[in-house]
Amino acid sequence: MIHDTPLIATIVAGLGLAFVFGAVAQRFKVPPLVGYLLAGVAAGPFTPGYVADQKLATELAEIGVILLMFGVGLHFSLRDLLSVRAIALPGAIVQIAVATLFGLGLAVGMGWTVGGGLVFGLALSVASTVVLLRAIQERHLMETERGRIAVGWLIVEDLAMVLALVLLPAIAPLLGGSTEQLGTDPLAAHFGLGLSGVLALTLVKVGLFVGVMLVVGRRVIPWLLHYIAHTGSRELFRLAVLAMALCVAFGAAKLFGVSLALGAFFAGMILSESPLSQRAAQETLPLRDAFAVLFFVSVGMLFDPTSIIREPWPMLATLLIIIVGKSAAAFVIVRAFGHPTATALTISASLAQIGEFSFILAELGVKLKLLPAQGLDLILGGAILSILLNPLIFAIVDRLNQRLAGREDKAAPGEPAAPAKPRSDATTLTGHTILVGYGRVGRLIGTALAQERQPFLVIEASDDLIAKLQQANIDTIAGNAAQPEVLKAANFDQAKFVIIAIPEAFEAGQVIRQARAANPQVQIIARAHRDEEVEHLIGLGADVVIMGEREIARGMIDTFTARQQQPSAPADQPVG
Ligand code: AMP
Repeated sequence: MIHDTPLIATIVAGLGLAFVFGAVAQRFKVPPLVGYLLAGVAAGPFTPGYVADQKLATELAEIGVILLMFGVGLHFSLRDLLSVRAIALPGAIVQIAVATLFGLGLAVGMGWTVGGGLVFGLALSVASTVVLLRAIQERHLMETERGRIAVGWLIVEDLAMVLALVLLPAIAPLLGGSTEQLGTDPLAAHFGLGLSGVLALTLVKVGLFVGVMLVVGRRVIPWLLHYIAHTGSRELFRLAVLAMALCVAFGAAKLFGVSLALGAFFAGMILSESPLSQRAAQETLPLRDAFAVLFFVSVGMLFDPTSIIREPWPMLATLLIIIVGKSAAAFVIVRAFGHPTATALTISASLAQIGEFSFILAELGVKLKLLPAQGLDLILGGAILSILLNPLIFAIVDRLNQRLAGREDKAAPGEPAAPAKPRSDATTLTGHTILVGYGRVGRLIGTALAQERQPFLVIEASDDLIAKLQQANIDTIAGNAAQPEVLKAANFDQAKFVIIAIPEAFEAGQVIRQARAANPQVQIIARAHRDEEVEHLIGLGADVVIMGEREIARGMIDTFTARQQQPSAPADQPVG
């Protein structure tokens, strides 16, 4: 029966295996992403047992890429994009050039043609959208300057790859590849356009797409969404958001030859100016996460584990280009532009991997008879290994950044304080209160603590808030409180109270577990929004959990009672 429904089988196997492997990975304190990749290897053709439909899995993964980029666009205004162009544009171009040269060098060293080397190098130069965004979102960096530069950089890389994909078929014959017009733009083939013609046509199409989006899309999309929002149907609103993201991405790819990811990004960016964008972002989250998981599974499926043993040295060299070569180039460029070391490190780490675009480029290279099959193996191996290593690289960078932050605070007053810099010089406070989160809830608590002259420090993920807190001379630690290094810097063992004022119960749970382990005496007060969350947090060691909605109800009842008792209020009026 299962053979009749390959799509269902692929989704079920992909999500099911990813869940099992992800849970096991989590159990062993490895990021779940590693589990998803291994689930893909298990479902792939190179390991015994069940083999899922590779083509379908890859296509499903594309939906994940679309939703992810749409989500990024929602948090990204045109202004944000333009504000980082000064660094993202030259940065991405120089980095692509450096990585391509490295790849070319390795390829020529292995006896491939220059054409093969160019495709190989280009494939190594472009980072995976999914991996980069995951890393940035996990660390709450999306709203920071570092995050914006990384995303802008990614957009430039994406654009460069769109150009590379359309230009390759046209220049393949010059590089000694296939003379068939494989993958050529039908319009270009029809008119028999040469290289410059294809380039011009591509630029015109990309320009046309951006133009259409900025002129027509900018009016129609927000209008439609507002209209749907006013119907009051949540279901229809959710559908409208999804339909827009998918239709714009697909239309962009089909009509304008722009990548799906880029199309989705523009759809999101146009919506980001509408006040409904936050809600729109919320609606796509669950689907986005599910399909992003399928992305990792589909990457794992492509991988033949024996290729590591068959060609260990070329594989190692490939990996070094991706992880060391590209990162070093990015680091130097970002520093050369006068950005702080912490920013340079984060950007280098986020780009030290390759993914979906590399596969597409490599496959085209093989079809055009430019890239030998070995090249495809190396790119796949390099991708899976660099994605596997990425969380580790980030952990190292996080640690380096914290050490750096400590040193810079003491020694280098000359460098402008990087707002994104995690402050980690462990606090000197003892018997203090640790306040996690300084949003709508945390701010009120902080003000009260300050009025009471209680010693306290704030752990906050948003750089903007950290900057404001530091201006107000409040002790701060920047970063995600769920990370052990961040927690350690807050001196938990000596704290008296921990007040967790963040809305996300999973992250709050991680903070509570670690705080409780470090200090059995500390009083932990946490915030929740559901009864189940209250139970979960108490189970992990919170002393008191305040359920937001219950407090709102309590406030309303009190107001109601007070008003009812007021002599002027019509007490006997029916309530309802
Ligand atoms: P609000 O829901 O308005 O009270 O805002 C919550 C605040 O907590 C925001 O300012 C977030 O930046 C911050 N926040 C959320 N999660 C974390 C976390 N894991 N670590 C540190 N700060 C966080």
